[in-house]
Amino acid sequence: MTTRLDELKTVAGAAVIDQLRRMADRLGPLRLVHINSTRIGGGVAELLIGIIPLWKELGVDARWEVIEGDQAFFEVTKAMHNALQGFKANIGKPMFDHYIEINRQNAERLRFEADFVVVNDPQPAYLIRFIRSQAGTWIWRCHIDASRPDRHIWRFLREAVKDYDASIFSMPGFSRNLPHPQYLVYPSIDPLSDKNRELSAEEVSAVLDRLKIERDKPIILQVSRFDSFKDPLGVIEAFRMVRAHTPCRLVLVGGEATDDPEGPRIYAQVQEAAHGEHDINLLLLPPESHYEVNALQRAADIIVQKSVREGFGLTVTEAMWKGKPVIGGAAGGIVLQLRNFRTGFLVHSPEGCALRIRYLLRHPEVGKRMGKLAKEFVRNHFLVTRNLRDYLSLMLLCKGPGSSAGGKPGRSVIL
Ligand code: UDP
Repeated sequence: MTTRLDELKTVAGAAVIDQLRRMADRLGPLRLVHINSTRIGGGVAELLIGIIPLWKELGVDARWEVIEGDQAFFEVTKAMHNALQGFKANIGKPMFDHYIEINRQNAERLRFEADFVVVNDPQPAYLIRFIRSQAGTWIWRCHIDASRPDRHIWRFLREAVKDYDASIFSMPGFSRNLPHPQYLVYPSIDPLSDKNRELSAEEVSAVLDRLKIERDKPIILQVSRFDSFKDPLGVIEAFRMVRAHTPCRLVLVGGEATDDPEGPRIYAQVQEAAHGEHDINLLLLPPESHYEVNALQRAADIIVQKSVREGFGLTVTEAMWKGKPVIGGAAGGIVLQLRNFRTGFLVHSPEGCALRIRYLLRHPEVGKRMGKLAKEFVRNHFLVTRNLRDYLSLMLLCKGPGSSAGGKPGRSVIL
């Protein structure tokens, strides 16, 4: 039977897969649990959906646990998320107490027995405070840009994060002052998933017909949760500037994430901004619409991700993998992916975004060249195989001779 890892050989190369198998063999039997706050919607869920089955194929006993919370909890965690990325937030003591209480309840409910426990993002960060027998290595995996956080909120979060054995960040600049080793691991995409696998021209057309998107003009696309950091209003502004000179169509696609209560409010703002515009398609898709998003990305002429803050921006990676020219906000991990003028364009304003869209519409051959380079850049740096290798390296390091007893990291190494 052909396994997923075997199939990945065709994309990443046989040597890469053989190396992963050798590393996993060296580690021996291992239990791993990933914890986050939603099974659907957003980049973390997207990552975990792809990586958990591959861990299993490598012989790792991998599980995925999701914390549960009420509306008030997710209001607090979204406010924390915003504040950690530098926006103003008003979080009072009762809200912090509620956050801690929900973490306590989840600590009672979930199973944590594992050699490695990877806790993703701030929502479940306080679990560690309620797990008395902390066997195994506990790692806090931060996916957001917490380089310039609201100090008050970071101080609160740090109280829990400092108890972890290590942290992982997506960019060197995101690291914090913490009393434990910090590692750098870039996120990744699964090239064989419904979101990223090859589609035929017929499959793409069928999805566009179904979603009632005309292909009468070049398509500019942004796919994102409706979140102010993703700047959908800025995208509409840029589109209007372009459309004043050149015919084009804007497709704005968003979905809901169960841990993001802000979505409906931002969606309403976008709806109002796009009202009466025949050349704007605003689509609210169910969170499991991976195949549809894939088709839309393949149908687009230019893909935009005009974020003003971004942890990494998997939508950028996905678009690059499809060989598309991408225009991204010069924020967080987007800067790692889009090498200006080579693998994409970085912009700082709606005006800059409009300028680059117009340029690419006038010079489609440049877009094609960029797209080709972009795809190879993703193949070399941002496939799931590389993510697995980084985790395996980290685990070997923690279990290796340089580490202290109990599988805890013994020294600080940036991967
Ligand atoms: N996504 C999706 N449908 C949507 C909006 C987003 O499937 O309507 C996916 C998108 O393709 C990507 C992930 O959600 O895989 C978003 O990850 P990213 O890192 O770009 O942003 P995050 O939401 O984590 O801030």
